[in-house]
Amino acid sequence: MSGRHEREKGVNVQVLLRCRPFSEDELKNNAPQVVTCNEFQREVAVSQNIAGKHIDRVFTFDKVFGPTAQQKDLYEQAVVPIVNEVLEGFNCTIFAYGQTGTGKTYTMEGECKRGKAGHNGELPADAGVIPRAVQQIFDTLEGQNAEYSVKVTFLELYNEEITDLLAPEEISKVVLEEKQKKTLPLMEDGKGGVLVRGLEEEIVTSSSEIFTLLERGSAKRRTAETLLNKQSSRSHSLFSITIHIKEATPEGEELIKCGKLNLVDLAGSENISRSGARDGRAREAGEINKSLLTLGRVISALVEHLGHVPYRDSKLTRLLRDSLGGRTKTCIIATVSPAVHCLEETLSTLDYAHRAKHIKNKPEVCGT
Ligand code: ADP
Ligand code: MG
Repeated sequence: MSGRHEREKGVNVQVLLRCRPFSEDELKNNAPQVVTCNEFQREVAVSQNIAGKHIDRVFTFDKVFGPTAQQKDLYEQAVVPIVNEVLEGFNCTIFAYGQTGTGKTYTMEGECKRGKAGHNGELPADAGVIPRAVQQIFDTLEGQNAEYSVKVTFLELYNEEITDLLAPEEISKVVLEEKQKKTLPLMEDGKGGVLVRGLEEEIVTSSSEIFTLLERGSAKRRTAETLLNKQSSRSHSLFSITIHIKEATPEGEELIKCGKLNLVDLAGSENISRSGARDGRAREAGEINKSLLTLGRVISALVEHLGHVPYRDSKLTRLLRDSLGGRTKTCIIATVSPAVHCLEETLSTLDYAHRAKHIKNKPEVCGT
C-alpha cells in the first residue's frame, strides 16, 4: 500500500498559504497590493517597485488560497483528508502562523456562534476549521456502527504560562485576578510525552456541545484581549480533540483506535522580530516570545538535520514535540495580507513557512 510506504519513509509537513482579502480600511486608503496568488500553480508572488528598491519573489506551497477562497474551500481541500486520518487513529496537528490581523483566528475558529447556523444544521459560511472538523468528526462517527468517545481541551499559552480556556471560572474574575490567575504545570507523562496537570477534559457527545465550549473558551480569550493590552496577539491557543473508537476485528477481537487532532492558533509572527522592549517589560516580552522563537529554532534544527533539536526550550515545543518531526501528521497554514504596509512581515512569514516544508514526520497509528 503506497500510503503505508509513505508513512514509513516519513512525510513532509504540509504547508499551505492563505492570503486574506483587503480590509475595509485598506480599501478606503487605496492600499497598494504587493501579493498575488496563483492557486492553480500553487504560487504566491510578492512584488514591489519603488525607485531604488525592487522586490520580486515567488514561493511555491502545497496549496495556495487567495483572497476569494472561502472557509469551505480551504476546509474541503486541505482539512477533510487530515480529519479522516485522525478518524483512522493518527495524531494530526494544524498550525496557523502569520502576522496579527492576517486571519489566523478567522481560519481556525471563524464565526461559529450557535444560532447563526443555517438550515439543516449547516454551518455558517464563516465557520472555520475547528467547528467544521468537529462537525465532520460527529457526522462520520454517527454514521458508523461503533462505540466512540470524544474529548476536547482548550488552552492558552501566554508568557510561558498555561491557562485553561475551558475552566469554569467567571470571565470577570479571570481579568480581575490576572496576577493570581490559575496557571497549570506541564509534566512528563512517563511515556516520553507531556501532559498539563489539571487541564479540564470535556467529554462531548454532539457537535453542538463543542460549539458551546468553543464559544466559552474564545470569549475568555477575547475578553482578555480587550482588557489586557491585546494579549491574544502574543498568546498561542491550542484546541485538541481526542477520539477513541472501539472496533471489532474480522477475528472478533476488540480494537481501540485513538486519534488526536491539535489545532493551534499561534501568536502573531511579528512577535519574533519585535522583541517587545517597547513597554520596557523586557523579561515578560522575552518569555512571551520564547515559544515562538523556539518553534522557529526547532524547525531550523529539523530542516538542517542537526543532532540536537531544542524541543525542551519552550512550553509550546514541549507540548507539540510529537507534531514536529515526530509521529504526527502536521500541516501549517501561513496567513498573509495582500497590502504593502505588511510587506516586510509577509516576506518573513513566507520564508518561515517555506523552510518548514522540509520537515519530515513519521506518523504512526496509535491505539491497541
Ligand atoms: P489574526 O488572528 O491573524 O490576528 P483575525 O483572524 O482576527 O487575524 O483576522 C483579522 C480580520 O480580518 C478579522 O476581522 C477577520 O474577520 C478578517 N479576515 C481574516 N481573514 C479573512 C478572510 N480570509 N476572509 C474574510 N475576512 C478575513
Ligand atoms: Mg487571532
